[in-house]
Amino acid sequence: MCIFCKIIAGEIPSKKAYEDNDMLAFYDINPQAPVHILVIPKEHIPSVDAIDSQNSAIVAKIFETIPEIAKAAGITNGYRVISNCGDDACQTVKHLHFHILGGKPLSETMA
Ligand code: 5GP
Ligand code: ZN
Repeated sequence: MCIFCKIIAGEIPSKKAYEDNDMLAFYDINPQAPVHILVIPKEHIPSVDAIDSQNSAIVAKIFETIPEIAKAAGITNGYRVISNCGDDACQTVKHLHFHILGGKPLSETMA
């Protein structure tokens, strides 16, 4: 089981920001902004590269829910959503996740 599947299963503790039947949001263990939340589907999808017509409904739901998660976390002045996909993007956990970063003015550069 991958590390995020273990977090979903409760085998690894996490500080949850949102949860329902299909998805989980929790605070990143190594925050890179004052608010740094990871949003993941409960279904194990390896990365953006593995999104297809069979599993994209959860991706749509995640994006429908991100504004609510950001607001509940206290972000009031904008945020960035990032998904690292593959080696060149430094994806370290091979379970699809979207970083929500906010709580301060973020860097103008993204790469
Ligand atoms: P990636 O580099 O794959 O885009 O992002 C993986 C993220 O998962 C990193 O920001 C890392 O800090 C976070 N992370 C890795 N292991 C854990 C963990 O056990 N708990 C939490 N809360 N975050 C984790
Ligand atoms: Zn997984």
